[in-house]
Amino acid sequence: MQTKEMIERVSKQIGKPLSDTELSYKTQLVNEILEWKEKRNAVILGHNYMEPILYHTVTDFKGDSLELSRKAVETDKEVIVFCGVRFMAETAKILNPDKTVLLPSENAGCSLASSITGEHVRMLKKKFPGTPVVVYVNTYADVKAEADCCCTSSNAATVVKSLKSDRVIFLPDEFLAKNTARQIGRHIMFPKLVKSNGNEIEFDVNQDYQMIGWQGRCEVHERFTAEEVQEARKKFPDLVVLAHPECPPEVVEAADFAGSTTAMAKYVGKSDGRRYLLLTECAMGDNIAAIYPEKEIISLPRIRCPHMNQITLEATLKALKYNQYVIEVPEDIQMRARGAIQRMLELC
Ligand code: SF4
Repeated sequence: MQTKEMIERVSKQIGKPLSDTELSYKTQLVNEILEWKEKRNAVILGHNYMEPILYHTVTDFKGDSLELSRKAVETDKEVIVFCGVRFMAETAKILNPDKTVLLPSENAGCSLASSITGEHVRMLKKKFPGTPVVVYVNTYADVKAEADCCCTSSNAATVVKSLKSDRVIFLPDEFLAKNTARQIGRHIMFPKLVKSNGNEIEFDVNQDYQMIGWQGRCEVHERFTAEEVQEARKKFPDLVVLAHPECPPEVVEAADFAGSTTAMAKYVGKSDGRRYLLLTECAMGDNIAAIYPEKEIISLPRIRCPHMNQITLEATLKALKYNQYVIEVPEDIQMRARGAIQRMLELC
């Protein structure tokens, strides 16, 4: 299919048809990106939260963090353009130390990844010696470097159970930790940070707990409420509700299914339902709507991640043209973080 028709089809399927001027502007941009991709011998990886036209036209591989980490290992291209956020591009660099990894925006961060540092993890390890550490992939490289194993929202329970330890440190997402603890029947405790300079934490030793968490949150998923789910069900009685495990536990409980972005997409594809409420970043709903035009995808309310929103067609073109922004990770951190990521990839 020609670029113009492809853009026209995607924009219509998500209910946002473009004017002729917009259509020819985007067509030109997409064609330029495709030319530069060829010229640079590059591969473009697109996270499920990318805006629909970018997602459906210029990416070679699409998916969640785990799938894209796998694709990053398999590629034989010289340059990887990561249309996602910084921690994802860092993971691609760690798995491909000899390749150039580009992130199209310097400001594509993440509230969850910023909630914790390597120093915090060292502090926890000192407080709970010998306790294995699992870190969510939504963390920066210095945090991964301190972990025994990484996990994603789709394999968190499997990773924790595989460690066969009575107690596990699970960082940094408070809600993913609570949802995982409930799923595998463990009690979780959250130590308090006493000094912000990062060398004192407090915890209640008398509590019965098998998991030690951290209070990091995704600024998108923390905003969904169980009341919104109830309201939506009243309005649309046939609604199928899907929640991301970064949502609060009561929201996950109110949903019909909880899973990673890829698991949600598969669920919509396989299920017979007609109308779905996706409790995740809103671009994901648009991307699914473009794949399954016969199904109605509702995002109530629409919440766009400000970090993912930095990655536009314009920024992707500049990344390829001007070789920006090159991701660098210090070698010793790369080496240690790679071990934790590879353990997860082997396990799941
Ligand atoms: S959606 Fe949440 S977890 Fe994902 S990048 Fe944005 S802030 Fe981070």
